[in-house]
Amino acid sequence: TRENKIEYRSPIICILGHVDTGKTSLLDKIRNTNVQGGEARGITQQIGASFIPIEAIKEQTKSFAEKVKMDFKLPGLLLIDTPGHESFNNLRSRGSGLCDVAVLVVDIMHGLEAQTIESINLLRMRNTPFIVALNKVDRIYEWKTCVNTNFVDAYKQQSKPAIQEFDSKVKETIAALAGQELNSELWWRNKDYKKVVSLVPTSAQTGEGIADLMLVVIQVMQKLMLEKVIYQEKLQCTLLEVKVIEGLGCTIDVILVNGRLKEGDKIVVSGFNGPIETNIRSIITPPPLTESRVKSQFIQHQEIKAAMGVKIVASGLEKAVPGTSLYVVDEDDDINAIKAEAIKEVESVLNDIETSGIGVSIQASTIGSLEAFSSFLKKIKIPVANVAVGPVAKKHVMSAAIMLEKDPKYAILLAFDVKIEDSAKQAANDMKVKILSEETIYLFEKKLKDHFDEIRQKLREETA
Ligand code: GDP
Ligand code: MG
Repeated sequence: TRENKIEYRSPIICILGHVDTGKTSLLDKIRNTNVQGGEARGITQQIGASFIPIEAIKEQTKSFAEKVKMDFKLPGLLLIDTPGHESFNNLRSRGSGLCDVAVLVVDIMHGLEAQTIESINLLRMRNTPFIVALNKVDRIYEWKTCVNTNFVDAYKQQSKPAIQEFDSKVKETIAALAGQELNSELWWRNKDYKKVVSLVPTSAQTGEGIADLMLVVIQVMQKLMLEKVIYQEKLQCTLLEVKVIEGLGCTIDVILVNGRLKEGDKIVVSGFNGPIETNIRSIITPPPLTESRVKSQFIQHQEIKAAMGVKIVASGLEKAVPGTSLYVVDEDDDINAIKAEAIKEVESVLNDIETSGIGVSIQASTIGSLEAFSSFLKKIKIPVANVAVGPVAKKHVMSAAIMLEKDPKYAILLAFDVKIEDSAKQAANDMKVKILSEETIYLFEKKLKDHFDEIRQKLREETA
């Protein structure tokens, strides 16, 4: 049939949520339940991501996939490994989210927490569909463990008190999500994937509901987003991280969303001081999962095809900006036009951030996190005067110091998940510019409140 000719790429899934809800454990469990019996079932460890092939998911869900009349169309799922919202912020690609669908992890015993809400806001900003994993169901009072069982079957095994507590926790979560203007429903009751968020109870410890989670992710993708994951030859590649690796030098970790990359390709990436032009020396991934205990070498690839997470070795990458696109320059391409596009990508984000003559200075590790941070400040009505990506240097402190004359309460630099150079610390100390540094956005809220309270207090003392 005609439909068979359409080629789909693996959707890119990221896992996010509050600290300690079990994001890392869930990822491990998804990998482990699919690597049973020493047989990897085609699961490959990539750079910054794990690939779960559809065959493994079919096998895992065969006991109940038939009941929901599932027709698997996708080649598999590409799970982004580094969870937490910091990395989610990096997952920005040409103005939209790189992540095709997200799993928002909530601890069923705790309900919604600060970072859960922050994540919901980010997902909305990027228009990313998501599923809620209600994790740690094994903590429910008198829960009877049903190792790696699908949730519906595990639920049938439970005693009355366990069912009662479970039902009441689910009700609380549904009410709390309604407070965030979200309709939600347990996944097997959800009749409208477009308007209602599916809740999937899971245990990353004992494995209940992991198969359900895989199934629901695929259902959401296939029902809402299938068009988006039709494979395209046009390159779409996002830079996640810049890392120095012993023996290799400076490397970049990228997610290839569409298209191909080849050894020797001439590439352009955005740099802190303008576009960087270089050649791919090698494309590498870690050894297969089954051999992970042996400390073997990376695997080299002559050519790779999307979707895939890989490490690229090339010279001159030290100043590459995470969160931006990687471009390949073909023979008949105009390199200057590509460089202009790379510059535009960074500048368009910087320009979209509303700045005023008077306000705080902000700095973040990636272009995506800068964007998210500035929208957070806008929401809490704090004006921003200066924005920058990358480590805090002396010159950034100097810019912030201009506020000492204009409006001293704004002589602060907010460093979101970035390093602060020693010279910058020294300069801040000398000039009395305050640097506030945090790794998550919501932790700034209290610090900012304290800062402005302190200033107000000082003013009151001075005028008294
Ligand atoms: P993260 O911060 O979201 O990545 O959370 P982790 O995966 O590091 O988990 C935080 C803690 O919760 C660890 O001690 C885990 O062992 C525990 N944990 C995670 N998932 C579960 C679960 O499903 N059940 C139980 N009982 N504990 C869990
Ligand atoms: Mg973790």
